[in-house]
Amino acid sequence: MPDWTPAQFRRAVLAWYDRHGRKDLPWQQGITPYRVWVSEIMLQQTQVTTVIPYFERFMKRFPDVAALARAPVDDVLHLWTGLGYYARARNLHRAAQQVVAEHGGIFPRDIDALTALPGIGRSTAGAIASISMELRAPILDGNVKRVLTRFFAISGWPGERAVEQRLWAEAERLTPRSRLRDYTQVMMDLGATVCSRRKPDCPACPLSNGCQAHADGNPQAYPTSKPKKTQPVRSTMMLLARDAQQRILLIQRPPSGLWGGLWCFPECQDHDVDAALAPHGLQATGAERLPGFRHTFSHFHLDIAPVLVDTRPGPGQVAEGPASRWINPARPGRLGLAAPVKRLLDQLGQPRQLSVL
Ligand code: SF4
Repeated sequence: MPDWTPAQFRRAVLAWYDRHGRKDLPWQQGITPYRVWVSEIMLQQTQVTTVIPYFERFMKRFPDVAALARAPVDDVLHLWTGLGYYARARNLHRAAQQVVAEHGGIFPRDIDALTALPGIGRSTAGAIASISMELRAPILDGNVKRVLTRFFAISGWPGERAVEQRLWAEAERLTPRSRLRDYTQVMMDLGATVCSRRKPDCPACPLSNGCQAHADGNPQAYPTSKPKKTQPVRSTMMLLARDAQQRILLIQRPPSGLWGGLWCFPECQDHDVDAALAPHGLQATGAERLPGFRHTFSHFHLDIAPVLVDTRPGPGQVAEGPASRWINPARPGRLGLAAPVKRLLDQLGQPRQLSVL
């Protein structure tokens, strides 16, 4: 165990922050709980450089929590298109409505009340409270877990309850009583820039004199990886149903579940294209298979076989309705689209790049 005191730890990281910490990120300007919250949610599973343009567009369209709460969820999903993990956007929208309805549009200054909002876990609540309110609240995101597991040489997968509890206890013990914003920021920065997953730069790290993993010469051994489980593979056929005006049919998925609330193509699991189109009042008049591809989710792979289907109205009901829409593939409009749907529409909008199997 390193014999540094918490005070030594804080002094070292805060001195480093003063000299090297990032201070020019868009969410570090004009800090409010709302801006910190949106940035924290976007940064979950996504790199800073990817998040910046999304954050800026989001703030332009929804400058405060009231604007977000008022917006149709489709507008929120549209601005999220490409970021993935769409449950984050739906929760963001629901939480904004809750902040307005239950807290008068002001974020609560209390960790329990923050974690009661959809999509806000203990670490995100800690980041909002410490960065925007200067409250003493620890955080424990992936970056901080990496720094702490290495500094204390804590073995075991951090998803295990006992390991997580130990990490929270250390995070709590180390959190200072002042300079909360800077401390939270530097802990995230150190994990993101110096103590990186593959190439920790220990000589440049302010913690190197007290770090146990560095002393042992094996920082990459931490954090212990999640026990391996092979990802299941599912498959689907996506039907790009086209009408005589070259428009493509999109249908909106139910609000919860995979790609909840997003606009997708009709799908067909059993190669019976006519049966899949019949509920939309359509009949196939011709079909071309397009190159298939794999989309990977956090918990499974989805092998997608796209098929471009020319259609005409069938004997059933006409397709247009509240949950379906014909769109021009080159200009789908302000709709939240699942990433593979966006990819296929982009290809359709550029016909020469579309190769047919
Ligand atoms: S000394 Fe190395 S392993 Fe330890 S916290 Fe710093 S970068 Fe990470």
